[in-house]
Amino acid sequence: MSLTFENITLGQRVVFGHGRATRHLAAEIDRLGARRVMVIAAPAESAITDRVTADLPVVLRHSDVRPHVPVEQAEAARAAAAECGADLVVCVGGGSTTGLAKAVALTNRLPIVAVPTTYAGSEATNVWGLTENSRKTTGVDDVVLPVTVVYDSALTLSLPVGLSVASGLNAIAHCVDSMWAPRANPVNQAFAMEGLRAVADGLRRVVRDPEDVAGRDATLYGCYLSGVAFASAGSGLHHKICHVLGGAYDLPHAQTHATVLPYVLELNAPGAPDSAHRIAAALGSATPVAGLNALREELDAPRALADHGMRREDIPEAARLILPYLPRNNPVPVDADILTGLLTRAWAGETPRDSEAD
Ligand code: NAD
Repeated sequence: MSLTFENITLGQRVVFGHGRATRHLAAEIDRLGARRVMVIAAPAESAITDRVTADLPVVLRHSDVRPHVPVEQAEAARAAAAECGADLVVCVGGGSTTGLAKAVALTNRLPIVAVPTTYAGSEATNVWGLTENSRKTTGVDDVVLPVTVVYDSALTLSLPVGLSVASGLNAIAHCVDSMWAPRANPVNQAFAMEGLRAVADGLRRVVRDPEDVAGRDATLYGCYLSGVAFASAGSGLHHKICHVLGGAYDLPHAQTHATVLPYVLELNAPGAPDSAHRIAAALGSATPVAGLNALREELDAPRALADHGMRREDIPEAARLILPYLPRNNPVPVDADILTGLLTRAWAGETPRDSEAD
């Protein structure tokens, strides 16, 4: 069979170096000619932020960062950016912080330089998200893609092991979902599988020793690849499910992704044998479900949606809300009953079934 595909890899500068964020960030701001920098960082990341922005021409430090970017916080940050006459936004933090910077860039048309401190991967995508009245809206605009990402794994050393695992599994979810997402192609699948291999390897090391620099580097490198793959391939079934759950029930982002992923893999793997084979190989296992189960066991991964605050009685409504977002090209058919079954199993944290081992 002949090979036919269309691929877009977004144009972005990436500077990666352990312990080099302050130097790399100052050089980037200089190179971009920015003179009035707005820094967005949550109070919890203030010590890291003080350190990495020490040499910048900062005109405003904005710290009202909330999960899932509520519109009220976005509006306040946009007004603050306009008022101080910022010519560039630097964001230091996880996906929530990057998300707020994207909300500012979307309306105020300011460039972003992102300094990630989790493995969310938002910094590598042109996708923005806003939440209003418990409904999350997302959109795509190249103006929200950070012009530069400064990666420094030293900034992730303070990320507690539990959060590192959940965030890393969020990156793994980008990789796995990219295999059957609407724009999946051989290029973004290659990024996804190298990302999966690197994050799985890195997380195993981080759990054994949270100070292991090689482990932190591998996880951060893999998380970047996961974001590139996701931006290029688009949102598959897993992301559509988690997107609705996060917005409607205010569930924690990384933990929700970490919990739901094995059930989407369980459902989709039999319908996508080539992807299943590649996912298994990247996880060093005979089958993808066994590989992910073993990794999750080793990492003591989040298990049940019930543990994150979802109520059992919300499941039928959640299935109904997800239905309009189902990707047309999912490898197996999905309906309300299948979604209800998947969510029920994820809610209870049942062991994902390995159909190939049955
Ligand atoms: P987050 O940004 O909310 O951070 C989680 C917690 O980790 C916070 O309490 C934060 O203060 C803390 N934290 C961050 N860095 C730390 C560090 N180095 N040490 C100690 N604590 C630290 O969560 P997240 O999972 O990084 O991001 C989730 C958000 O990102 C969601 O809103 C999601 O929708 C968005 N996201 C967007 C995209 C996209 O492409 N647009 C992709 C992935 C995630």
